[in-house]
Amino acid sequence: MIKRLHLLLCALLCLPTSGAGQDQRHPVCLLQFDSLSRRDLDTVVPLLGGQRDAAVASLVRGRGLMLATEAETALLRERGYSFRVLMKDSSIRTLYKRALYGPSLQLSDVYHTYGEIIQEGDALIRDHPSLITRIQIGSTTQEKRPIYVFKLSGNAGTSRDRPRVLFTGCHHADELMGAEICVALMTSLVRQYGRDKRTTAWMNEYEIFIIPVLNVDGHTVVTAGIDPRWRKNTHDTNGNGILYEFPEGVDVNRNYDFNWAFGGSEDPASERFRGEYPFSESENRALKGLAEQERFLLSVTYHSQGEVVYFPWDWRGRKAPDDALLREIAEGLAASVKTMEGDTSYKAEYGAGTVGQSYPWLYGTMGTFDFVVEVGLGASFFPPEEVAGLVTTNLAGAHYILSRAGGPGLALRVVSRGSRKPLPATVRFPLIETEDLVRRTTDPSTGRFWRLLAPGRHTVLIQSAGYRPRILKEVAVAKDGWTTLEVELAPGDEGAGLQGD
Ligand SMILES: [Zn+2]
Repeated sequence: MIKRLHLLLCALLCLPTSGAGQDQRHPVCLLQFDSLSRRDLDTVVPLLGGQRDAAVASLVRGRGLMLATEAETALLRERGYSFRVLMKDSSIRTLYKRALYGPSLQLSDVYHTYGEIIQEGDALIRDHPSLITRIQIGSTTQEKRPIYVFKLSGNAGTSRDRPRVLFTGCHHADELMGAEICVALMTSLVRQYGRDKRTTAWMNEYEIFIIPVLNVDGHTVVTAGIDPRWRKNTHDTNGNGILYEFPEGVDVNRNYDFNWAFGGSEDPASERFRGEYPFSESENRALKGLAEQERFLLSVTYHSQGEVVYFPWDWRGRKAPDDALLREIAEGLAASVKTMEGDTSYKAEYGAGTVGQSYPWLYGTMGTFDFVVEVGLGASFFPPEEVAGLVTTNLAGAHYILSRAGGPGLALRVVSRGSRKPLPATVRFPLIETEDLVRRTTDPSTGRFWRLLAPGRHTVLIQSAGYRPRILKEVAVAKDGWTTLEVELAPGDEGAGLQGD
């Protein structure tokens, strides 16, 4: 009784409230709750320091793994909660290892290391050299590891004038499912080519690019068993020469140059540290270089968690110019992916902002319709027995996006009158696009411009330096597939009056 009273007193006296007390909270216990709902967190988290991120390691299918101090543990017992203490350790990192890796404190080999991903890709290249190639797009900021994209098509060795689709995993190091889905997608597209009719058509009609892991250094921290909490890259921002000092690094998904200054945090200790300046991180520059070269039509960026698809954008009430079409695709994508419980599908929602992340940059600057898929529910990465199911359900989403790369839309080609030379040109849809968007241009090597559009009539404005601009009204976009249109520009004064049709 005396002991119990002592614990209770300790619990009451030691229980941190919020704010200033947070820095001192140092959990030493890992607790496992076997039947906890998401709603229960509203009452449990306040007893565990009040900050969800610092209290909940994971909550997957009702199994909650929580970090608590001795006092908080005692208080939970007093309140009648049922749980067991899985581990006591003075290192928070060790508690997280036990929570997320399991008893071995190492990542299950169900997950791929980056080396294994490259090996699997290279095995596909060896067996099917005409269907897949590997291209280095950059090196990581801190440890200079190569970052690769795999390019897949019916003739992967050449650059063809086709709609291009990008899939990217692991901006965030610990969100491992993105890499797993990308590897599975890559493997199935290559293996099913010539066997499955849809796959064969996608490979023949598109160019598909897959970056399984963008944040290679961070992914390595998690897969090597160094720290399962790692989210950012491993940029040694304080320059002390010591790596993996949690939470050092830059949030690679806050470093893009679209409203960069309004996103993330300027505090290097924040999990959302946006970096010193836009595109300060070479991971982001690698994706930028690829996007500028390939001009992707559609893109999916995988994250975890939430079972939700984010799309651009709700900018303080201002919707994206392509709102209706973006929403339709986001809803189609979300509806094609079953939740872990299997009873419903993912939801489609506007992304939280237009701030430094991949999707506003890809859409706002490059014209790529980019969708963030938040894979799974309850953890940044999941117990090994969940991986296969999450991959299978999310492949259905990837397939939906591939099916949407078939239009409807306009496949415009701009050439010089007479010589028929392909032209670099700015293409605007003045009745759709607003000043929120950066102007989009044709591929200078082919003069091509692919754009998804709702079927119906559209107005297009085309401008190129040294040529007279043209405005095309009432361009009819068919209900299915790509409507092709070749536009000739006449040399002349680009400031001259518009040439109508
Ligand atoms: Zn993420």
